[in-house]
Amino acid sequence: MLRLTEIRLPLDHPAEALSEAILKRLNIAAPELIGYTIFRRGYDARKRNAIVLVYTVDAEIKNESALLKKNISHVNPAPDMSYRFVAHAPQGLSERPVVIGTGPCGIFAGLLLAQMGFRPIILERGKEVRERTKDTWGLWRKGKLNPESNVQFGEGGAGTFSDGKLHSQIKDPKFYGRKVLTEFVKAGAPEEIMYVSKPHIGTFRLVGMVEEMRYNMEALGAEIRFQSRVTDIEITDGQVCGVVLVNGERIATKHVVLAVGHSARDTFEMLHERGVYMEAKPFSIGFRIEHPQAVIDRARLGPNAGNPLLGAADYKLVHHASNGRSVYSFCMCPGGTVVAATSEEGRVVTNGMSQYSRNERNANSGIVVGITPADYEGDVLAGVEFQRKWEARAFELGGKSYAAPAQRVGDFLAGRPSSHLGEVVPSYTPGVTPTDLSTALPDYAIAAIREALPAFDKQIKGFAMDDAVLTGVETRTSSPVRIRRGDDFQSINIKGLYPAGEGAGYAGGILSAAVDGIEVAEAVGLDMQQKA
Ligand code: FAD
Repeated sequence: MLRLTEIRLPLDHPAEALSEAILKRLNIAAPELIGYTIFRRGYDARKRNAIVLVYTVDAEIKNESALLKKNISHVNPAPDMSYRFVAHAPQGLSERPVVIGTGPCGIFAGLLLAQMGFRPIILERGKEVRERTKDTWGLWRKGKLNPESNVQFGEGGAGTFSDGKLHSQIKDPKFYGRKVLTEFVKAGAPEEIMYVSKPHIGTFRLVGMVEEMRYNMEALGAEIRFQSRVTDIEITDGQVCGVVLVNGERIATKHVVLAVGHSARDTFEMLHERGVYMEAKPFSIGFRIEHPQAVIDRARLGPNAGNPLLGAADYKLVHHASNGRSVYSFCMCPGGTVVAATSEEGRVVTNGMSQYSRNERNANSGIVVGITPADYEGDVLAGVEFQRKWEARAFELGGKSYAAPAQRVGDFLAGRPSSHLGEVVPSYTPGVTPTDLSTALPDYAIAAIREALPAFDKQIKGFAMDDAVLTGVETRTSSPVRIRRGDDFQSINIKGLYPAGEGAGYAGGILSAAVDGIEVAEAVGLDMQQKA
């Protein structure tokens, strides 16, 4: 199989243009081409009036070795991307590994362990996904928060009610991302995620997929328990020997995957008290911004706005402010909604989601500012307190009802409070309170965002439009701690504890968390196989 990259074709090319381009690139006649599949399809929109599709294809050719000898540019052997299990559970193994959390990291750790025959026990503090959906909507519709079942906690983890963007910039030499996408498609994701350059799934489908993956794991011998918060871990002589659940039950095991996500603040505290080594790490805070999607489409795609092959346009922006802070767009959701994402009472947190169709009226993204441990005082968990402080402030500014404080961009830049909102209708529910956001974040963050918005407007015309809406606050961008692990994926001071995914500081996003889950499952499987 040969991989051909950089095949550039016009947006409206006929279907046969792709095979013609392959023949032309390889300088072969049609009978030489046995078949081909599209490995990746992206687009180049640098020239808005002449957007081109950019393909990578894997082609089967009659005499591949002869063609390879010709050293044709952008033609190479296609890599073998198939996944091979590294370990298999020995017969009669009595110990079962425990996975804490059913976010993408926990699901993939659990799935891989189950596929290798280790029959994991998977523990989740929240509820199964359908029940969880009701609780999540309880906050969005009625302002009623369930601290154990919400956007952050429950089956599927933090990314279940999301845009389901699946691109990631992680290095992936073993093609584990491919394994993740393959499993997602098996569970009901659209086939196109295998080849579009920026795949997304959307909330509605994610819910069904999460459920399907649970059935798959159970069929392979995994046991999945909901409303089973882990409240303690048992450690003897620096080795994990069990976990304790909220109902007092103890499960003995020497292998625990800790995939608890970035919002498991009580669990971080418990681990800290038990002496598990962790460090404070940088994260970001800011606001969500909303524009009409049509403004973003026009700016990014020009006359091609609305072309179904391109979909709703996205963006990625960075500004290095004069006070030394970096401001960047985070988790951009085209045609989506801003969601209430707190897991704690008396706090307001924003994030974004969309459906697969991405056809809501507004585009949204986090506009966030980098924070380092030097920005706050205290112990290793002081970053959590820093996040809490601004989340509580947002709750107060919003009127203490889980409404989010909001401000028109024109007013924010002019330094005056908003008394009403304009053309852009904010999508956040249970609602927003027009106010002054200048005290909703530290002064340096406000100054950096005030400088960044006009700079972003130079790249996307209309970005700093008066009626664009800022909603606060975006604090759960990544984990405030890293739970250090060694090359064997185990905690550097507690054997048998495998910190994993976003909460442990080893992933950022659905795909990277899932890939980390695979790597950790392999490490657990190999260790259990070797010690059996
Ligand atoms: P999580 O998904 O956070 O999962 C951790 C799980 O552990 C949770 O289910 C939690 O309930 C459980 N848990 C915690 N403590 C305990 C305990 N003590 N006992 C038992 N269970 C416990 N990323 C993208 O790549 N694309 C997107 O489009 C995207 N959109 C997002 C939209 C929203 C609204 C949110 C909140 C996040 C979004 N993200 C997105 C980020 C993405 O969801 C996370 O990066 C990812 O879910 C991290 O995976 P994880 O498995 O490490 O942790």
